[in-house]
Amino acid sequence: MAQRMKPKLIVFDLDYTLWPFWVDRHFSPPFNTNKDGIVYDRFLRLVNYYSDVPGMLYQLHNGGYTLGIASRSRTPPEAHKLVKLFNWDKYFKYKEVYPGTKLNHFRRFQRKSGISYVDMLFFDDEMQNIVDVGKLGVTCILVSGGMSNAVLTEGLHKFQMNNSSRHTNKI
Ligand SMILES: [Mg+2]
Repeated sequence: MAQRMKPKLIVFDLDYTLWPFWVDRHFSPPFNTNKDGIVYDRFLRLVNYYSDVPGMLYQLHNGGYTLGIASRSRTPPEAHKLVKLFNWDKYFKYKEVYPGTKLNHFRRFQRKSGISYVDMLFFDDEMQNIVDVGKLGVTCILVSGGMSNAVLTEGLHKFQMNNSSRHTNKI
């Protein structure tokens, strides 16, 4: 049986992909946690993520996948702080968080990791990012309603389809 083709790098957007808000618009820093690990903003508003996300990141990380973040947030320090407060830092080897086209984020992933674009899988809720990054040869999945285990499975499946056609074409 052919070995299952897996992405060498899986990249996630942050706003409306891992959590249901724009970090630079919908909350007021500073962010903090209480003794139960609940994250809240300056006005004690609860800051949350899509419910499948922590388990999904844990599973991928334990499964040996390399993970990254590509965000165009205009407040990079706050975005980084939320990732840290959610205890997700340990899952992400690469983090590129700054405004501008995501072509830049992915060029840096490629340079830093040495991984080819075709070996990358990317999840994002904005069509423009999907179009831009897709031009590089990255397998891109448009997310609506946030990341879930089902969307992850769909992405891994699409990656496999893209890769098997790529390998078939070479023969
Ligand atoms: Mg987004």
